Amino acid sequence: MQNTQTNIKEIVIIGGGTAGWMAATYIAQSLNFKVKITVIESADHGPIGVGEATIPTIKTEFFDRLGIPEEEWMPKLGGTYKLGIKYANWRKAAENGGEHYYHVFGEIPLIDEVPLSSVWIKNYLEGKTKKPFAESCFSSSVAFENYLSPRLMDGTKVQHYAYHFDALMLAKFLKEWAIARGIHHVVDKLTTAEQDEHGQVTCVVGESGKKYHADLFIDCSGFSGFLIDKLYQEPIVSFSDCLLTDRAIAINLPENPERDGIRSYTTATALKAGWVWEIPLYSRSGNGYVYSSQFTTDQAAQDELRKHFGKRADHMDMRSIKFQSRRHQRSWIKNCVSIGLASSFLEPLESSTIYFIYASLYQLIKCFPQKNIDPVLRDKFNHKINFMVDDNKDFIAMHFKTAQREDTDFWKVNKYETKTPDSLDLILRKHKSGLPIKRPTVDNQNIYPTFKSLFQNFWTETNYQCILCGVGYLPNNPYPILNYRDDIMAAGDVLFKNIEKRANELKKLLPTHYQYLKQQVESAKKESEATGIVA
Ligand SMILES: Cc1cc2nc3c(=O)[nH]c(=O)nc-3n(C[C@H](O)[C@H](O)[C@H](O)COP(=O)(O)OP(=O)(O)OC[C@H]3O[C@@H](n4cnc5c(N)ncnc54)[C@H](O)[C@@H]3O)c2cc1C
Repeated sequence: MQNTQTNIKEIVIIGGGTAGWMAATYIAQSLNFKVKITVIESADHGPIGVGEATIPTIKTEFFDRLGIPEEEWMPKLGGTYKLGIKYANWRKAAENGGEHYYHVFGEIPLIDEVPLSSVWIKNYLEGKTKKPFAESCFSSSVAFENYLSPRLMDGTKVQHYAYHFDALMLAKFLKEWAIARGIHHVVDKLTTAEQDEHGQVTCVVGESGKKYHADLFIDCSGFSGFLIDKLYQEPIVSFSDCLLTDRAIAINLPENPERDGIRSYTTATALKAGWVWEIPLYSRSGNGYVYSSQFTTDQAAQDELRKHFGKRADHMDMRSIKFQSRRHQRSWIKNCVSIGLASSFLEPLESSTIYFIYASLYQLIKCFPQKNIDPVLRDKFNHKINFMVDDNKDFIAMHFKTAQREDTDFWKVNKYETKTPDSLDLILRKHKSGLPIKRPTVDNQNIYPTFKSLFQNFWTETNYQCILCGVGYLPNNPYPILNYRDDIMAAGDVLFKNIEKRANELKKLLPTHYQYLKQQVESAKKESEATGIVA
C-alpha cells in the first residue's frame, strides 16, 4: 500500500531559552535537517538561568548526538564537573550538629544479584561498621572533599560524572550552532494563535502583526505556557500535596578558584523552610534558596540566605522566582508539543529539568509524526512524559519525607503531614523490610550510554540508598536472605576493602578539579585562536 501521508515540513518553536534551543538543535539533527525550523522569542521575557546542575546523560544523549565534544562545549558554558550532590543538614540543623551525606553517580556492584548496599545495611544495623554509606560503597567519594577531578590530566575518565553550567550560556551556544546550520531565529512577542476547525494550530501571531505558519508547534515558552496554558488551558497535575516549596531566590557569587579550588559537586543545604543550592561554575557560583511561602516570608528567606553566605553575599543582587511543582495532564495536544518549563517543573533538588528537556526530545523523535498526526503517537509520548515526571516527583518527595529534621514547622509538616504518594509508599515499605528497591537493568559501565533503559529505570537501588541510608532512614531488618548467605557477606567485605584501597589510590592519582578545568579552558582558548573563532 502507498503511504498517502505527507511529512511535516515546518516547525515553529516558541521560546529561546534552554528548552527552545535544545529542541531546535536536537530535532534538526535527528531529522537530518530535512524540516524548516524557526525559533521565535520575545525580547520582553528573559529566559531562566540560575547556574544549573545536570545528570551524566546530557553528554551521551544530547551533545554527542549533535557531534559536539565535551572539550568544546564545557569551557563555553563556564562548565564544571559534578560527581554528585552533597546534602548538608538534612538530618539535623547546623546549630544541632549538622552532618552531611552524598548522592553519588554510578551503580554499586551486585554480588550474586544482591546489591552491596544490602551488605552495608546489615553491617550497619549490626554495629559492624560506622563508615557512612557513600564513603563505603564508592571510591569516588574521596574526590568530593578533596575537590578532585573525575578525569586525569591526559583526559582519561576515571569516575562517572555530570556537569554544572550556566543555562543562559547553553542557550546562547546552541543558538549560534543552530543559526550557523540554517535554523531561523525571530524576535517577536507572540500574542495569539489561530486554529483550524479541529483545534489544530495553524499559525501563531506576533506583536509585529506577522503570522508564523507551521505543521507542528513546540511550546518552549517557559512558565507562561503560551499554547499549553493560554490556548489549550490543559489541566495541571499539581504536586503541592507532597512538594511544599514554591519560591526561589537566586544569587550569583564571585569565586576565587585559584585560591579556593572548585568543588566537584552540587551542595544542597537544608535551612528553616527549604534548602540552598550551591553550584560551582568555572569562575563564579550560582546559588539560591528554594523555600515554601507557607512557612516563611520573602524577606525572612532573603535574610536567612544572606546569613548563610555571610559577607560574600553583601551587596549582591538577588532575583525572586515563583514556581509550582506540577505537570500538565498531557504535554502534547493536537499539533502542539510542550517541552521544558512549559510542560512540567519539579522543585530543583535533583536537578531534573534539563534532563526532562532532552528526554522529552528523545521520546518526541521516537514518536515523530507525519502531518496527519496519528493519536497513538501522541498518547505514547504523553504516557512516557507523565511516567518520567511522576517517577522523579516520588524520588524528590522522598528526600523531604525521610529527612530527620523536626526543628521547624516546614520540616515537621514534611515528615508528618504531607502526602506520601502511593507509589513512594510502596518503595518505602519495601525498603523498611530490608528488600532492595529497584535493581539496575544495566551494569555500572553501561548505565549512562544506554539511554532507553536509563529512562525506564531512572532512579535505582543505588540512588535510593544514597539518600535513605545517608539521611539515616534505615530498614527495620537487614535483607533476610543475607542471614543465610555468609558467602555474600564475606564477598561484600572484600569489595569494601577494595573500594577503600581504590579511594586511596585515586586521592594520589587525580588532579584537582581546578587544575583539570584550567587546562581545558586554556586549550580551548588556544584552539579558538588557531582557528580564528573567538570562544
Ligand atoms: C529555581 C530554579 C532552579 C533550577 N535549577 C535547575 C537545575 O539545577 N538543573 C536543571 O536541569 N534545571 C534547573 N532549572 C530549570 C532550568 O533553569 C530550565 O529548565 C531551563 O532553563 C529551561 O527553561 P525553558 O527554556 O523551558 O524556559 P525559559 O528559560 O523561561 O524560556 C522561555 C522562553 O520563552 C520565551 N517566551 C515566553 N513567552 C513568549 C511569547 N509570548 N512570545 C515569544 N516568546 C515567548 C521567552 O522569551 C524565553 O525565551 C531550575 C529552574 C528554577 C526556576
